[in-house]
Amino acid sequence: VADPHHQCLAQVIPFSQLSLEAGGADRDQLVVKWQQDGQSRTLYVRDPLAIAAIRHTAPPALVTLVDHVAASVRRARAKRRMALLAALGVLVALGLGMWLTWDALVTWTVSLIPPAWERRIGEAALQEALLQQEILREGPVVEAISEITARLTSHIANSRYRFAVTVVRSPVVNAFALPGGYVVVFTGLIQAAKSPEEVAGVLGHEITHVLERHGLERIVHTLGIVAMAQMIMGQQQGLVGLAKQLGVELITLKYSREQETEADLLGLRLLCKAKVDPNGLVAFFERLAQSDNEKGRIELLSTHPMSAARATRLKAEVAALPTFLAEPFAFEWETVQASLKSSDTSPKR
Ligand SMILES: [Zn+2]
Repeated sequence: VADPHHQCLAQVIPFSQLSLEAGGADRDQLVVKWQQDGQSRTLYVRDPLAIAAIRHTAPPALVTLVDHVAASVRRARAKRRMALLAALGVLVALGLGMWLTWDALVTWTVSLIPPAWERRIGEAALQEALLQQEILREGPVVEAISEITARLTSHIANSRYRFAVTVVRSPVVNAFALPGGYVVVFTGLIQAAKSPEEVAGVLGHEITHVLERHGLERIVHTLGIVAMAQMIMGQQQGLVGLAKQLGVELITLKYSREQETEADLLGLRLLCKAKVDPNGLVAFFERLAQSDNEKGRIELLSTHPMSAARATRLKAEVAALPTFLAEPFAFEWETVQASLKSSDTSPKR
C-alpha cells in the first residue's frame, strides 16, 4: 500500500522470492533482494533488531541462512569496534609515552645513584648553604630539634639515611633538607612556631623530600642528559665537580608541585606514625600566610605557598589519618624559645 503523504511503502513479498546475503562495504548488513515488476529491488538492513525480526518470520529453511548472515554482520561490527579500540589505544599510548618517558627516565637515573654519592652531593650543598652562617652547636634549641628529628626518623622503616640537623641563627623563617639526610633549620622558624608540633610538621615534610629523593630528581631533571650520562656511567671524577655544581643548584632548588603534594601527604603520615599532632603543620602554614611578611623573611612560604587549595587538601589529609593519641615532647617549648631570646640580647663572646 502506497502512502504518498508519509512517503512510506509497505509491501508484502513472499520469502520464496527473496534472496538473502551479507553485504555492504564491511559486510555488516543483511542484503535482501527480490524481483518486482521486472525490476530488481534491494533492501539493506543494518539494524540488529530488524535482522532479528526477519529471522523471526523467516521459514525454517531460511533461518540458517539469516543466522549465517547475522553472524557475519556481528563479526564485521566486532572487527570494526576492535580496530577503533586499537587505534584509540595507540593514540593514548603515544600520548602517555611522550608524557611518561621523561619522568620514568629521571626516576630510573635517580634509582642508579648510590646513597654514598647522594651523601656527597648533599654535603657539598650543605657546605655551600652554611657559608658565613652562625651555627648553633648546643643548648635547648639544638636539643629540641634533635629530639623532634629523632622522634620522626625512628619511625622510618629501612631508612638508608642518617639524618643530621643543623640549626642556623637567622631571622629567616625557613627549613630545608638536602639529599643524603642533611636538614637545616633557621632560628627564625623556631621563633615563629607556637608549638614543637608546628616545627615537627615542617620537618616531617622536609624529611619526606629526602626519603623520596625529590632533590636528586630535580637535579637530574634540571641538568638533564649530561648529568644522567655521568651518573649512569659512574664517572666518579666528573661527579666530584658535579657535586659542587649541584650544591649551588640544590640550595635554590624548587620542587615540583607533585613533589610538594607528596611531601605534604607522606610527611603527615610520618607525623601520625611518630604520634605527633598533625594539625601543627596546617596551623603553622595558615598563620604564616596571614602574618605580616615584612617583619622577617618568610622563605618557607615562597617555596611552599599556602594556597586555599593546599589548605583544603592538607585538612582533608589530616582528617583521613587514623586517629591516635598524640604524645608530647619531653622539653618545654617556652623554655626553648626563651633560650633563643636571651642569647639574642646577651653580648656575643
Ligand atoms: Zn617542600
